[in-house]
Amino acid sequence: MMLRLIYYCKFVAIYDMIAIMSEAIEQLEIALKAHGFSMTKPRQVVFSALQNEEPQTMHELVARCPQTDRASIYRTVALFEQLGIVQRLQIGWKYKLELTGDFIHHHHHLSCLHCGKVIALPKDDDLEKRLHALAAAQKFEPQDHQLEIRGLCYNCQLSRLQ
Ligand SMILES: [Zn+2]
Ligand SMILES: [Zn+2]
Repeated sequence: MMLRLIYYCKFVAIYDMIAIMSEAIEQLEIALKAHGFSMTKPRQVVFSALQNEEPQTMHELVARCPQTDRASIYRTVALFEQLGIVQRLQIGWKYKLELTGDFIHHHHHLSCLHCGKVIALPKDDDLEKRLHALAAAQKFEPQDHQLEIRGLCYNCQLSRLQ
């Protein structure tokens, strides 16, 4: 009985994930159409490679789209940035790419200064409210924000001790 329940939950979780992913593809199509662009194979491939992944470098993204030529990937990312579909996370002097808050849930990051690993933090409504209150106190109307905590990930802390 317990086992069946676990399987059921897993099934529901996968089903939810597929639903969210196909919903996002529809959203992408709407965003493209709104600016006079249509859905193309490279656009769909690049978007899918960015979904449900940690922020990635251009190099990693290219590796995730082996069927698509490099130039189309670069063009697609440039278009996505222009349309607010993709954003750059500046990490030191490098950057990583991720979908914007319209396409994934808003979250903050931990970024490791040693190995470059980026970890997404879980949603924190209290923190969001607090950040908005701080902006409002300056009569500022916030539209979005990025928050990055830099430091050492657990693995890098361990290897430092060795
Ligand atoms: Zn690390
Ligand atoms: Zn936030």
